[in-house]
Amino acid sequence: MKKTTRSLIVGLMLSGSFSFAQTKETSKDPVIANIIKEETENSQLEKIASELMDGIGPRLVGSPQMQQAHDWAIAKYKEMGIPARNEKWGEWRGWERGVSHIDMVSPRVKSLEGMQLAWSPSTKGQAVIAETIIIPDLADSLAFKKWLPNVKGKFVMISMNQPTGRPDYNWEEFGTKESVEKMKVDRNTQTEAWTKRINKTGYTARTLPVALEKAGAVGIVMCYWSKGFGANKIFGANTKIVPTIDISVEDYGLLYRLTESGIKPKISVRADSKELGVVPTFNTIAEIKGTEKPNEYVMLSAHFDSWDGGTGATDNGTGTIVMMEAMRLLKKFYPNPKRTILVGHWGSEEQGLNGSRAFVEDHPEIVSNLQALFNQDNGTGRVVNITGQGYLHAYDYLGRWLSKVPAEYKKGLETRFPGAPGGGGSDFASFVAAGAPGFSLSSLNWSYGTYTWHTNRDTYDKIVFDDVRNNAILAAILAYQASEDPARTSTEKSVLPLNEKGEAGAWPAKRSPTRKGGLD
Ligand SMILES: [Zn+2]
Repeated sequence: MKKTTRSLIVGLMLSGSFSFAQTKETSKDPVIANIIKEETENSQLEKIASELMDGIGPRLVGSPQMQQAHDWAIAKYKEMGIPARNEKWGEWRGWERGVSHIDMVSPRVKSLEGMQLAWSPSTKGQAVIAETIIIPDLADSLAFKKWLPNVKGKFVMISMNQPTGRPDYNWEEFGTKESVEKMKVDRNTQTEAWTKRINKTGYTARTLPVALEKAGAVGIVMCYWSKGFGANKIFGANTKIVPTIDISVEDYGLLYRLTESGIKPKISVRADSKELGVVPTFNTIAEIKGTEKPNEYVMLSAHFDSWDGGTGATDNGTGTIVMMEAMRLLKKFYPNPKRTILVGHWGSEEQGLNGSRAFVEDHPEIVSNLQALFNQDNGTGRVVNITGQGYLHAYDYLGRWLSKVPAEYKKGLETRFPGAPGGGGSDFASFVAAGAPGFSLSSLNWSYGTYTWHTNRDTYDKIVFDDVRNNAILAAILAYQASEDPARTSTEKSVLPLNEKGEAGAWPAKRSPTRKGGLD
C-alpha cells in the first residue's frame, strides 16, 4: 500500500521542478538531526578549505602539490578515525610551477598581469628581455614559412586582441541596443578573421607554438580571456623549449596596440619551473566499513586535481570539501553503516577523468556492487539539479532518499527522470559508462563558466560557504539513505531517445584512462 502511494507521488514528479515537503518523520530521524546540528554549529569547511586551497594550493596532475594534497587528505581522515589510502593508478610528467614575472620595459615600465601556463619550460633562472611581434595576416602557409625567420629573438603574440575587455552583461546593462549589437558583430567578424589568419599559417593552436620556438622565438605570449573582468583561463603549454605566458586582456591589448603601431615594445619575462621526471599518480580512497552488507558500496565522489591558474577552489575544491565534510559527519553520527561507505578523491579528472576511469577498471568488485555514487563538480553553488542518468527506476530510490532531506536543504532542487546518461563532464560518467548508478549533484552556477572554471580567479574568496554547507548536509543524508535502503538499487537502463540521425540512442561507452600522461 505504502509503495503504491509513493509510486503515484513519484510518478507525478517525473519531469519538471517540484519541491519536497518536510515531513515530521524526517526531523525525528536522529542521524539526520545530528548531521544538521553538527554542520550548522561546528562546520569544518572553512578550515579545511583554507588548508587545502591556501596552504597547499592548486593541484595540477604530476605536481608536488597534488602529492601533498593526497597526503594531507590521508592525515585528515586519520584525524576523523577513518581509514584511507592512496591508490596508485598511473604516472605523469612531474612539473612544479615557480614564479612568473612579466614586465613591459619599453617604451615605459609597467608590470604586466600574467603567468606561465602549466608545464611551461622555464627561462632558466634569468629574465629574458625581447621585443614583441604579432602573427601577421598572410596569404598562405608558404608565405608564413617565408615570414617565420622574423620571430627569431622575439616574443610572439598569437592571440587576437579583444575589441572589449568588458563582459557582455556589462555592455547589456549600460550600452545602447545599437552599440551592443555593433560590438558583437565587430567581435564576431574579428574572431573569424583571426581564426582564418591562424589557419593560413598551416599550423593549429597546438602546433603553431612549436613551429615558432623552432624558428627561434624566445617565448609565446597569449591571452585566453574568459569574458569576465580579470578572468583568464590557464591551461597547459605546448612549447618544449621556451615559455608560454598568458597575459590579462588589458595588458595583452596594451602590448598588441603598441606592437601594431610600430613602437616595438619590449617585455622582460622570468618564468621559473622545475621538471621532476616521471611521478606516480593516485586516487585517495577513504572507507567506513559496512556492518550488514560490507560488500555493497555507497560512494561519495569528487575530483581532487585542478588546473593551476588559481587554487582550484571551485573546481573542484568545493566538491572535495563537501565530500570530506560529509564523511566526517557520517563517521560521527552513522559510524556503523549498513553498507560500506567510500569516498573517492580522484586524480587527473582534468585530463580526461583518468583517476575515476582507472578506479572503475581496477575495482570491478566495487563497481558491480555499487548502491549509488554521488559526485559533485560544477562549482560552489547549492545543488539544484539531479537527474536519473538514464536509469529507469532511479526516480524510485532517488525520490525516496530525497524525500528524507528537510526542505531547507533542497531549496530550488529539480529532478529529471529517467534523464540521459552523462557521457563525460565529470567522474560520475566513468561509473555510468560501466552501467553503475553514478549521479551528479549539479549546482547553481554562480558565474562558474566565466569567472572560476579553469581561471586565474578560482580562489578561496569565491567559495560560498552557506551553499557548500548545504551540499555537505545533502551529500551526507543521501549517503546515509542509500546505505540504509533495504533494497538494492536497480540499474535497468531506459530506452534512449533517437539521436539526430534517427538512430537508436547508445549508452556511453566505457573508456580506459590515460595511465601515462604528459610525456612524449
Ligand atoms: Zn572539475
